[in-house]
Amino acid sequence: MYRNLFLILAILFSLLSSENLYAKKSKKNNKNRKEKKKKESTRIPFLYWYTWTKADNLGNVAKIFSVKPEQIKAWNKEQGFPFKPETKIIIYAPNKVYRTLKQKYIIPSKMEFDEIAKNIKTSVENIKKWNPKLKSPVKSGVTVIYYRKIGFDESRAEGTPSNGKLIGGVQLPERKGWYIRRTPEQEYGTESTIRLIIAAFSRYRNKVEKSPPILIGHISSKEGGYLSPHQSHQNGLDIDIGYVPNTNKPLEGFIEMNEKNMDIEKTWHLIFSFLKEGRVQYIFMKDSLQKLLYEHAIDKEKVSRTYLNKVFQYPNGNSEAIIKHTPGHGNHFHVRFLP
Ligand SMILES: [Zn+2]
Repeated sequence: MYRNLFLILAILFSLLSSENLYAKKSKKNNKNRKEKKKKESTRIPFLYWYTWTKADNLGNVAKIFSVKPEQIKAWNKEQGFPFKPETKIIIYAPNKVYRTLKQKYIIPSKMEFDEIAKNIKTSVENIKKWNPKLKSPVKSGVTVIYYRKIGFDESRAEGTPSNGKLIGGVQLPERKGWYIRRTPEQEYGTESTIRLIIAAFSRYRNKVEKSPPILIGHISSKEGGYLSPHQSHQNGLDIDIGYVPNTNKPLEGFIEMNEKNMDIEKTWHLIFSFLKEGRVQYIFMKDSLQKLLYEHAIDKEKVSRTYLNKVFQYPNGNSEAIIKHTPGHGNHFHVRFLP
């Protein structure tokens, strides 16, 4: 920090000084630069703890971290090889390690490239590169492919939602008026899950004039793993959310919903706010409630049928739908985010 400041001052000073002086300083700067370069090549490696899984072998793990298989063995001698699943091994990587995740965004309503880029946080050039056949504007219901790069040591979901763990879990913060956290100790997610939940609620609050705070159930526990009574909710990607009731009072507990006690319009906007983030893998919802939202979206919101048929399992039983019927989701819906 101070060295940089000194460099900047030196450059400024030299600019203000005579040519002779400038030449001297410039030489000195060159020397500094050379030293810096040398330092970079001998810098301290990045240290990572990696949890070995059944699917791993030395080759694939070595590749992730740009190291040699023998190095991994040498650094973890005391663990004994082959490593057992769940063993935490240490790795000294020469560079910061990233993972690239391939993802899909189903266009919710006709959009120009720049709006898509903004929504999925990438550039228009990238969208063109990853989807060479695509033309702007893109019609509702079209699937756009994109890639996301995340640091290996950032908070992350390990394993699967029904057999996994949460690393570096982040707790859902309190937001008065937006939602009510039923069990804050079971409301940890990956950093991206938590960010997406807040973004979706922010979208929702901008869209509807008035809404009771929404009841939030389980996400995951701090380090993930089994969370009673669920099968999933293990790796920080799942969240249970109450439907919007047609009163202005928040729900006190999850209650079975129907066309009489649910605010269909507001629930549609809440669901649509999540979908618009483009990072939802599934939403589990009872089919009779899917019907109410589907019909509302067509009749009142003028959303395209192409989009809705891709997103809802209702009415065609689309097996690739995001919104799926699974038992137990008549009193709350369940959002599963992409990792
Ligand atoms: Zn759930």
